[in-house]
Amino acid sequence: MLQQDTIAQFRAQLRGELISPDDQSYAGARKVYNAMIDRKPALIAKCADVADVIGAVRFGRENGLRVAIRGGGHNAGGLGVCDDGLVIDLSPIRYVHVDPAARAVRVGGGSTWGDVDHATHAFGLAVPSGIISTTGVGGLTLGGGLGHLTRKYGLTIDSLLSADIVLADGRVVVASPEENSDLFWAIRGGGGNFGVATSFLFRAHPVHTVCAGPMLWEMDQAADIMKWYREFIVSAPEDISGFFAFMTVPPGPPFPEALHMKKMCAIVWCCTGSMDQANPMLDPIRTYRRPAFEFFVPMPFPMLQGMFDGLYTPGLQWYWKADFVKELGDRAIDLHVKHGSQLPTMHSTMHLYPINGAAHKPTSNDTPWKYRDATWSEVIVGVDPDPANRDRIVTWAREYWQALHPFGAGGAYINFMMDEGADRIRATYGENYDRLSAIKAKYDPGNFFNVNQNIPPGTASGDSA
Ligand SMILES: Cc1cc2nc3c(=O)[nH]c(=O)nc-3n(C[C@H](O)[C@H](O)[C@H](O)COP(=O)(O)OP(=O)(O)OC[C@H]3O[C@@H](n4cnc5c(N)ncnc54)[C@H](O)[C@@H]3O)c2cc1C
Repeated sequence: MLQQDTIAQFRAQLRGELISPDDQSYAGARKVYNAMIDRKPALIAKCADVADVIGAVRFGRENGLRVAIRGGGHNAGGLGVCDDGLVIDLSPIRYVHVDPAARAVRVGGGSTWGDVDHATHAFGLAVPSGIISTTGVGGLTLGGGLGHLTRKYGLTIDSLLSADIVLADGRVVVASPEENSDLFWAIRGGGGNFGVATSFLFRAHPVHTVCAGPMLWEMDQAADIMKWYREFIVSAPEDISGFFAFMTVPPGPPFPEALHMKKMCAIVWCCTGSMDQANPMLDPIRTYRRPAFEFFVPMPFPMLQGMFDGLYTPGLQWYWKADFVKELGDRAIDLHVKHGSQLPTMHSTMHLYPINGAAHKPTSNDTPWKYRDATWSEVIVGVDPDPANRDRIVTWAREYWQALHPFGAGGAYINFMMDEGADRIRATYGENYDRLSAIKAKYDPGNFFNVNQNIPPGTASGDSA
């Protein structure tokens, strides 16, 4: 139990707000993106700057509190919040400074990707991220970062130049190729295990207008489309990317009314070249199986990044299951079509994100992100606004995943997993796990930062405790 005067002293030290259960803002401040998560921390420290983060880390340690770090609050398993302990909420540390000459972008640890896209677009630049603009830069980056620009420019971590980290003992260090290079290696995929990243420095790339959007086909063509897609995406030029999806057509523009609420399959494209470059690449699929609808047009990159924001608003129930996939055989395709045809709710979906092109250039131990040789990251998400549908979405996602898991590569993308236990985390990092565990022992020997896909500290030889 924390004494009131201890809390009062902490509150007085902070530039940002300290929220406790008696405060009116508590109910809103403890919510995360996934409404299935219902945790009640003892305190939420809205950190305004690095000094606040240092103070919060020290306060948590001195008072023996469990500590969660909150970036954008998007994590599927709700790792940005914990019961009873202290939430170090970085959302006020939100800024983006673009250096166009150096093509470098400095980003505050609590920023969202929408903040980054907005700032970089003005200079005709972009940093590879995900597919939804409200996702936090912190969690997505530290876990790897897969999205529309992965094939062209690699994972988000492949564009990370350095980060400022507040360690468990309150020290602030730079993690870069020159300084604390072991820590720099670990944060490029090892998640929030090593400290609080208060700022990130990214390399930006020349991306302004992209040719992008979905093509949709009837479900009875899904197997043919998947078979075409599995060949196309492994050999396509890096300028083009496309993720495969099973979806229910939302009842609104730009989709024609005749397709509203229909279960269909889709590929959502993004080409960094012009329409003249993109169309010859996509004409073969148009000829082979004419899409029932397509919305493939030139658009500013931030528009593509925000395309799904209105559909996937905060406060929905989400249940996630994931795997890496190397090969998509005919039997796996049959099972995909079977389960994909049974989407339980309008928001539920399955995505196959390509991991190839530039993402294959680093080796499987250049960063902790081992599955460089995978072809896709598969994610099955049961989603619905109504808590009464929880069992339906969970059962569908589990059954779908169980059917496909034998065809997976072993581990899963850490940012697409909920709480699946220590073995799944090990499987994800493979031979990189012991090195991560040894680095954890150096920078966080007491496992202070454990509200994450946890890698317990090991020994210098790499045996985890
Ligand atoms: C709708 C939706 C779409 C998504 N799309 C993609 C996608 O296209 N590509 C992709 O790769 N992922 C995607 N994700 C997954 C996303 O990468 C993870 O959910 C990620 O954890 C979100 O980061 P966050 O900062 O918002 O999360 P939070 O819930 O705030 O934090 C998640 C974890 O990251 C740690 N963390 C966050 N910020 C920091 C920091 N600054 N310093 C230290 N630790 C930190 C926390 O400790 C916690 O363990 C998506 C998620 C959602 C909900």
